[in-house]
Amino acid sequence: MPNAYEIVDHSFDVIVLGAGGAGLRATLGMVAAGLNTACITKVFPTRSHTVAAQGGVSAALGNIENDDWRWHMFDTVRGSDWLGDQDAIAYMCREAVDAVVELEHLGVPFSRTDAGKIYQRRFGGHTTDYAKGDMAYRACAAADRTGHAILHTLYQQCLKHKARFFIEYFALDLLMDDDGFCRGLLALCLEDGSIHRFRANMTVIATGGCGRVYQSCTSAHTCTGDGSAMVLRAGLPLQDMEFIQFHPTGVYGAGVLITEGARGEGGYLTNSEGERFMPKYAPREKDLSSRDVVSRAEAVEIREGRGVGEKKDHIHLHLEHIPADVLDARLPGIVQSARTFAGVDAHKEPIPVIPTVHYVMGGIPTNIKAEVVHPTKDSTETVVPGLMAIGEAACVSVHGANRLGTNSLLDLIVFGRAAALRAAELIKPGTRAREVNGHSQEAALARFDRTRHSKGGNKPGEIRPLMQEAMQSGFGVFRREDTLQEGMKKLNDLRDPLERVTVDDSSLKWNVALVSALELANLSEQAVVIAHSAVARTESRGAHARDDYPQRDDKNWLKHTVARKDADWKVTFDYRPVRLETRSNEVESFPPAERTH
Ligand SMILES: Cc1cc2nc3c(=O)[nH]c(=O)nc-3n(C[C@H](O)[C@H](O)[C@H](O)COP(=O)(O)OP(=O)(O)OC[C@H]3O[C@@H](n4cnc5c(N)ncnc54)[C@H](O)[C@@H]3O)c2cc1C
Repeated sequence: MPNAYEIVDHSFDVIVLGAGGAGLRATLGMVAAGLNTACITKVFPTRSHTVAAQGGVSAALGNIENDDWRWHMFDTVRGSDWLGDQDAIAYMCREAVDAVVELEHLGVPFSRTDAGKIYQRRFGGHTTDYAKGDMAYRACAAADRTGHAILHTLYQQCLKHKARFFIEYFALDLLMDDDGFCRGLLALCLEDGSIHRFRANMTVIATGGCGRVYQSCTSAHTCTGDGSAMVLRAGLPLQDMEFIQFHPTGVYGAGVLITEGARGEGGYLTNSEGERFMPKYAPREKDLSSRDVVSRAEAVEIREGRGVGEKKDHIHLHLEHIPADVLDARLPGIVQSARTFAGVDAHKEPIPVIPTVHYVMGGIPTNIKAEVVHPTKDSTETVVPGLMAIGEAACVSVHGANRLGTNSLLDLIVFGRAAALRAAELIKPGTRAREVNGHSQEAALARFDRTRHSKGGNKPGEIRPLMQEAMQSGFGVFRREDTLQEGMKKLNDLRDPLERVTVDDSSLKWNVALVSALELANLSEQAVVIAHSAVARTESRGAHARDDYPQRDDKNWLKHTVARKDADWKVTFDYRPVRLETRSNEVESFPPAERTH
């Protein structure tokens, strides 16, 4: 019985849910501002997916060649296919320079140029002079382990500032007042099975992406978008979930990522005829075009019979021509991944690759201060009091319909910092966190208890691959009404098994089966929203490429999808206008234009 659970109570000024790059940057800023802050995480902080980020973090430092943050902004707007909000993009790109220097001062061990400056490499879609010049050297890198370097540094800084961590606590649901305030959350301590109520004046969701909705993805197994699912269950919307990024170079068969930095260092792609095909699709930027462009090109090559391998179903990435000492210094992890996951020596042979799900552009809608917002009937916007979202879980939106490589790590630190600044403005340290009114706690406990004792059908591990297959086949690189509807049907047919999974062990201590069921429920919430959002958008923009609507349609679709889902799997839509103004004196906005590469 739900009432039988004893609750351990905590009260903080702020709670940050998630200890990836976004959560740790926010936590650091909050504790430094004197706020009593708890950081809650289901995995040990330095095991968050950010640790796997390879290629770099972008900032127009100009350490190798001349650069300008306005060029960075233009590239990001163009990369987003004009769906990104230009005030947020201007803010992010301008702050980037200081944010990366700040990381350096915090101790991130960046690779160095001969002159001792932060090393920068080229990356897809990053150009100079508003795409009239050459590719930019903008990705600040610590070899091919940039996320590792950043995450460890931020964690150490948090420890230095004596931040309070609750490690291996699994958040279940938000505690929402009847009047729409967020008052905190409920979490399960994985170690001893106790239930904890965290109350706070501000709850910051930093739970990362939901790449595991798909069968083949580069994300960690923990990337199940738990915070976003909690938001949906609280009746709040997710934005732009139809935009799923496929990375052009996941290792064939394994899904493990080969960073775009590999092409930034001179790598290139070929088809079964040994042809370097990218110049056909993107004459100027070639192999370093945006990810959506390169992934589509690969999919076309494979579809037209020019894939490599026995089944002609993948592509070759060549690094053999890069001098061995450069390869070993700049891309040591990639050489290792190629050997471990593809069985090839990257010094001598090409790496088999395929477009693989990598990033979710959509997420919890926020304003530029990281506060969660939602549109209201009279087309104004409401801030959800007490709730923020940052990182891959959020949609500010700086990535719009397609994210540029290296802009996610930047997003984490810029908006992690912004959240801390805003929280410090709003909350006086030591203000008592209010009691929760309403029924959200009972509802959360009842849901938890139901899942724990669920004995209806298949185990999570049996049903999850079926859902992932439905998503992979129905909502892939190219989309079309009939294949989308087929995917939707497969997903709907899985509703009953998804909702009635069998958890064959109802114990509470370190119950992996239970966590797996809770994560599967979270994944399926988002799968439903992704599916409906993809069907609804009848145009092609960024990563959402529809064969039946091949053109971008600014007249009807220059707007953000805002989707709510109810317990009955019904999805309803509102729309938010894209903010085309920069709200900055330092840069003009970039009006929608044709995207050329
Ligand atoms: C292989 C790979 C390489 C990448 N390389 C780059 C790159 O070079 N440059 C770049 O810009 N981007 C890169 N990205 C993208 C980028 O790394 C991610 O988008 C980003 O790290 C996400 O950070 P985050 O802080 O939002 O979430 P994460 O790092 O995913 O952290 C999520 C946190 O939330 C916690 N959490 C989740 N659910 C719960 C729950 N229910 N209860 C408690 N805690 C919970 C987790 O424990 C974790 O601490 C890469 C991504 C991948 C997968």
